[in-house]
Amino acid sequence: MSYILVTGGAGYIGSHTVVELVNNGYNVVVVDNLVNSSYDVIVRIEVLTRKQIPFFKIDLNDHDALDQVFKLYPIQAVLHFAALKAVGESTKFPLNYYSNNVGGAISLLKVMEENNVKNIVFSSSATVYGDATRFENMIPIPEHCPTGPTNPYGETKITIENIIRDVYANDKSWKCAILRYFNPIGAHPSGLIGEDPLGIPNNLLPFLAQVAIGRREKLSVFGSDYNSKDGTPIRDYIHVIDLAKGHIAALNYLFNHKDNGLCREWNLGTGNGSTVFEVFNAFCEAVGKKLPFEVVGRRDGDVLNLTANPKRANTELKWKAQLSINDACKDLWNWTTKNPFGFQINNYSWTKFDSESLTNYDRLNTVRTFNGKFEVSISNHGATIVAAKLNGIKLNLGFDNLKGYLREDNPFFGATIGRVANRISKGDLLINGTHYQVGLNELHRTSLHGGTYGYNKRTFLGPIVKTNEKEKETTMEFVLIDLDGTEGYPGDVETKVIYTVRDTGVGGELGIEYEAKLLEESGRDSTAVSLTNHSYWNIGNQPSIEGTHIKLVSNKHLESNPLDSTPTGKIVTSTDLDSQNSAKLGPDGPVFDYCFVTKQQDKLDTRNDELRVVATATHPKTRIAFTTLTTEPAFQFYTGDGVDVAGVFTKRSGFCLEASRYIYNPKWFIPLNKGEVYGSYTIYRFE
Ligand code: NAD
Repeated sequence: MSYILVTGGAGYIGSHTVVELVNNGYNVVVVDNLVNSSYDVIVRIEVLTRKQIPFFKIDLNDHDALDQVFKLYPIQAVLHFAALKAVGESTKFPLNYYSNNVGGAISLLKVMEENNVKNIVFSSSATVYGDATRFENMIPIPEHCPTGPTNPYGETKITIENIIRDVYANDKSWKCAILRYFNPIGAHPSGLIGEDPLGIPNNLLPFLAQVAIGRREKLSVFGSDYNSKDGTPIRDYIHVIDLAKGHIAALNYLFNHKDNGLCREWNLGTGNGSTVFEVFNAFCEAVGKKLPFEVVGRRDGDVLNLTANPKRANTELKWKAQLSINDACKDLWNWTTKNPFGFQINNYSWTKFDSESLTNYDRLNTVRTFNGKFEVSISNHGATIVAAKLNGIKLNLGFDNLKGYLREDNPFFGATIGRVANRISKGDLLINGTHYQVGLNELHRTSLHGGTYGYNKRTFLGPIVKTNEKEKETTMEFVLIDLDGTEGYPGDVETKVIYTVRDTGVGGELGIEYEAKLLEESGRDSTAVSLTNHSYWNIGNQPSIEGTHIKLVSNKHLESNPLDSTPTGKIVTSTDLDSQNSAKLGPDGPVFDYCFVTKQQDKLDTRNDELRVVATATHPKTRIAFTTLTTEPAFQFYTGDGVDVAGVFTKRSGFCLEASRYIYNPKWFIPLNKGEVYGSYTIYRFE
């Protein structure tokens, strides 16, 4: 298995190219120091492509760290995007630009050479041509147009080009593609990734997008007295998706060039120039309103027309830009409205959850409510609720790091439970007349909580984090693709777990939405899904749940078979609750481990059902009121009497309130068929 290393893969063009690479079957590893980007980009690429992307937060100038990546992954080629790119800034901080861009490229080329990796695609720029209008017959600009950058940024690009040409001149086995981009615009049509300029945008469309969303007052048009049809300058704007595809074409060209090395330049542009007003009008149309602008004086260094001649790329790379300015404007507006502040979310943070791992797959994602009172941390491992805190008081049982969650005696603390929660007798699952043997993991030959490799042990992709200030809530969306045959379950199932951390004024609440679908690709017609969260709560700020008052909405529960705790099929009444369905929990009793039922189980997606309070709990010491609301027809109430996590937690350290379906029994079970959606919604409120 070989990999393509993408430097600067968290950036604007790099991220779109990573998506194209994955879509074209390449394995990708990303290196980025995140100086002008965010790790959220990688997370979103993973969700978009449904693939984990190995990522390393490394500066290219760190030779040894970079070398380690080459030792860990068999790298076949490098797409080198990483650079600082702001023209104006480069004139102010030329040394930074030379050391970052030129120094970074030299460091990369050295590591490549030392590791015998000699295929590179380099992000150059039309800036290397400088003012091509100074020559006759050089518009549209061909690759043989003499270069002559007019700023330090452009100088770094031509310098790196020259270095690459020298490396090739010395060793003709190198294969080097130098791509000179014109003006990349637009965003991924999914609205998940796009350009997120920090500070004041330097380019026309990102600036316009901020005007449209209300972050800037108006667009300044620099001169309308040029000799064009509307007086504004002409540039060659290329959709970032087309640009990304140009990299796949260049890479394939290098790989197909079998006999010897090469070093060649290609322009990536459309060949069609557009004026500033044409782009402005196209964007206004995408937004659906006329945006404010003002014509001001010409900008130093601007010239009439810088359009590419892309024929060389068209013929040699067999690549041609396909998308229009209207497409780019539509995609940019979609991205902007979905992410008005780009990737910036103030009340979200993450840390590595597995300190021993070099990669960052296992992260701990923390969101705080706007009132600062309530905070929830979720790990990618099992989309697990690792910590929930109200005014600094921890409300649940959990470990500090991934290692704890991997312990044999971890009783599913906080984890997402699937594909089928609770027990299946003998692991015999009957779906539409077919028996499936699913993973057995208990002594009595039962399958518990999805078997030995249930959802609690999987690394979820995500989270995609979004915040809604009006609703005072922040969501973290995790995704898992559970493949056909895993633990014996049929069908590829896509499961989304969406956590919402919401301000309730006096406290906060955590919403958990589950959504699952059977994916067409697996060729199965039906499967089984039943999901819940296995948090152990303790609202007394003490080692035991003793003293907690609990009140349930129902005293009816499923009768369970004493041998293997699976349901007999009967519903019985609890004798451990008083006439109000409430109980005070003591040090040893009453003992509960029942699936209480509150209504009939009659649908696969309960999300449109009434969200009802099913349990309330209070503790006199902390006076915390804990309310569980759900759309689900049942909930497991367990007083944690079997908890024995040596040296950490003992019995009755926490209790569970797992909103769920009825425990699996063919009598009640509803299969998930092709085209259908499984869904539920539960809230844990703490005030
Ligand atoms: P970007 O800033 O969005 O992406 C560049 C990425 O490189 C960022 O994620 C940044 O964090 C990273 N990076 C910078 N220096 C690094 C270093 N020393 N080590 C590791 N990572 C580092 O920019 P972009 O628009 O995606 O541009 C990508 C490439 O294309 C750049 O080389 C740029 O010069 C070139 N280019 C861009 C344009 C444009 O208009 N966007 C036009 C022509 C060429």
